[in-house]
Amino acid sequence: MTANAPEYAWLDGRLVPWDQCVVHARSQGAFWGANVFEGIRAYVSPDDGEPYAFRVTEHLERLRRSMKSLHMEIDFTDADLAAACTDLILANDFGTDVHVCVVAYFGMGPNFDPLAHTTETGVHITSTPVPRSAAYDRGVAASISSWRRIGNDAMPTRIKAGANYHNSRLAQHEAVRNGFDTTLLLNSRGTVSEAPGSCVVMVRDGVLITPPGTSGVLEGITVDTVATLAGERLGLPLERREIDRAELYVCDELFLCGTMSELLPITSVDRLPVADGGPGEITRALQGHYDDAVRNRSSHPDWCTPVVPTPEGVV
Ligand code: PMP
Repeated sequence: MTANAPEYAWLDGRLVPWDQCVVHARSQGAFWGANVFEGIRAYVSPDDGEPYAFRVTEHLERLRRSMKSLHMEIDFTDADLAAACTDLILANDFGTDVHVCVVAYFGMGPNFDPLAHTTETGVHITSTPVPRSAAYDRGVAASISSWRRIGNDAMPTRIKAGANYHNSRLAQHEAVRNGFDTTLLLNSRGTVSEAPGSCVVMVRDGVLITPPGTSGVLEGITVDTVATLAGERLGLPLERREIDRAELYVCDELFLCGTMSELLPITSVDRLPVADGGPGEITRALQGHYDDAVRNRSSHPDWCTPVVPTPEGVV
């Protein structure tokens, strides 16, 4: 039994004990990272003490797009997967904010050939309690990675495939070894793409700027949330355009933006302070609006799915 593990996971249609949530070592999913996945957070609302899963529909839509790109089909509908996430969160009953990973993977394939196309697929879902980053208030120090971001001509970053994270790991581990908290990768054109597991948003002269999908980034759901909130709450636009490395050194504010990292201020790049070296005012304000939104306290209740028992007949 894995120490401190959650009690349950979900595998191919049913809740299973954590240690039984396994895929074969020679499945293409395990062997070559031939899988696609989504990380979803569920937050407890301070108003009713109940958990709400954030933007599940958009995450499952992106999972479908990733699957389509890999010619992958699974035995479950989006409603099945949403219900599975809910059932799992309820079964584990952490009583706190959780992170849920939904993974669709390729099985073994004909003649155990990892290159051969296979229609054999499976899905596993795990959920763990994940508190807010300890750096949420103070911010993080970023480097510019010596690794380039994979690109659409080789390993498309729009597809959220497990194998893409080999590139992310190389960059993150290098950064940590060199004393940074995180890192920003440049793409093959030398412009800014994203961090190993988050998008990046820069503020210059009251405009939020993030690299477009063509810059070698995952099309982020958190960025989309931030764009909506910045427009509605602060009257600020979000522009999608290429960002030069040197702009990072002279920008007013900079933050990571992702389901796991939420909005995380970047306070230095390559040891150069971003503005005065503290989290910026717009970043702070957006953190507050984002927190309201994920805890079902905004004018977007459609973003928050109540984690309640699945009605009979679903799944
Ligand atoms: N880029 C990468 C590589 C990621 O793994 C993530 C996390 N899913 C993001 C960006 C941010 O995407 P989202 O806001 O949809 O979580």
